[in-house]
Amino acid sequence: IPVSVFKDRKVALFGLGGSGISTALALAAGGSLVTAFDDNPDSVARAAAEGISARDLHEIDWAEMAAFILSPGVPLTHPRPHWSADLARAAGVEIIGDIELFARQRRASAPQAPLIGITGTNGKSTTTALIAHMLAHSGRDTQMGGNIGRAVLTLDPPAPDRHYVIECSSYQIDLAPTLDPSVGILLNLSPDHIDRHGTMENYAAIKERLVAKSALAVIGVDDADCRAIASRLEDEGRRVTRISATTRLEDGFYAEGTRLLRARGGKTETIAKLEGIGSLRGAHNAQNALAAVVTCLECGLDAREIQAGLESFPGLTHRMEQVARQGKVLFVNDSKATNADAAERALASFEHIYWIAGGLPKSGGIEPLRPFFPRIAKAYLIGEAAPAFAATIGEATPFEISGTIEAAVEHAARDAAGDVAGGSAPEAVVLFSPACASFDQFRNFEVRGEAFREAVRSLAGTQMMEK
Ligand code: ADP
Repeated sequence: IPVSVFKDRKVALFGLGGSGISTALALAAGGSLVTAFDDNPDSVARAAAEGISARDLHEIDWAEMAAFILSPGVPLTHPRPHWSADLARAAGVEIIGDIELFARQRRASAPQAPLIGITGTNGKSTTTALIAHMLAHSGRDTQMGGNIGRAVLTLDPPAPDRHYVIECSSYQIDLAPTLDPSVGILLNLSPDHIDRHGTMENYAAIKERLVAKSALAVIGVDDADCRAIASRLEDEGRRVTRISATTRLEDGFYAEGTRLLRARGGKTETIAKLEGIGSLRGAHNAQNALAAVVTCLECGLDAREIQAGLESFPGLTHRMEQVARQGKVLFVNDSKATNADAAERALASFEHIYWIAGGLPKSGGIEPLRPFFPRIAKAYLIGEAAPAFAATIGEATPFEISGTIEAAVEHAARDAAGDVAGGSAPEAVVLFSPACASFDQFRNFEVRGEAFREAVRSLAGTQMMEK
């Protein structure tokens, strides 16, 4: 997307990773004079190959700069942008990111293009992918990006009927002061990333900015911070739609079992059903689905399109992803579950679980998962965490130390099939939800999830599901 909002003006940019390079190119294509920098010589060389020359930001005249662009993925705590940000601030130069550039370019070139911004502590990617899927499935021109998939400035340029579905991290919102979505979604807030933002108040205030400027604010009201934000915005006269996965609302959208309902003016109607939709199991996914339903109604989809969109959602890879079946045994890849909290949601979503867990342990281990042990038929422990997890499980449920993911998959599949055949369980699930980081055995959680998938594929008689 050529960005012309700084045409003929000088801008400084820090961070020449893939998305930084695309940001620099977008600005250059729009006629800006870009001075870029990165302290990694490889990045500088790659940028040079694309025609972007780098200069030390110490040497530039900040008074001439119209803006300082921080690349996505460069934390403000990074020493280099930290001092250059100080220089920029001292010179009164605004500090913004690629999402802000996108927002300005959209206002300049196609303000009618629907812009859907999604944030929250959890569920951002699922909700973003679900909305993009539902819109595309009903034939809408749809672009998805931001904190998920492609950087925003590598998407197709704004056009009146083109829908942008953009996942926003708090870091990106912090650098997007004028972001003004048509629909802004704040799913939930929990004290998670507060290390980066100092305090919960600060973290919540940043997230609030996304919905504060939205034409329609969709807010999950299952936590106190979000409830307060919803009330505040309403008091300010903004359009707010509340969603709840746990509580019946007088006015808003809520879930009751697998039904999604809309309440208004004393009347309640069923809008959609999640019954049998494997990719949207669990109460947390009801929250994500509610946000998607409200958004799609706002974008003009009808009930039939919405139901069809929900039913055809394939889910995200590595997040409770159903990868295969072997008779009545389901194989689920939840490699993204790198802590006990995430694994808890997976364990809460199934029964008769053959649980593969372990990796590089996090503090606290799996102690918080104890209430879910009765659902576990047997645990298969891998990686460095295996001895500690074994000690926590103790006598509570059977376990073995499998060591590798391949051994764990083979043994879990054999035991699950045996129990189903023997009639001790009608159905079973082999669930890979490690509750650990991956770095002891794998490069990252994606590679680990692929290893699980491959191990499942190599079993005899498994029917792999489409990706
Ligand atoms: P994010 O992009 O915010 O990290 P994801 O959609 O990738 O969120 O989901 C990550 C994990 O968080 C999932 O595996 C699931 O366990 C959990 N999760 C998803 N949606 C929600 C939600 N609405 N509330 C709480 N937890 C959720």
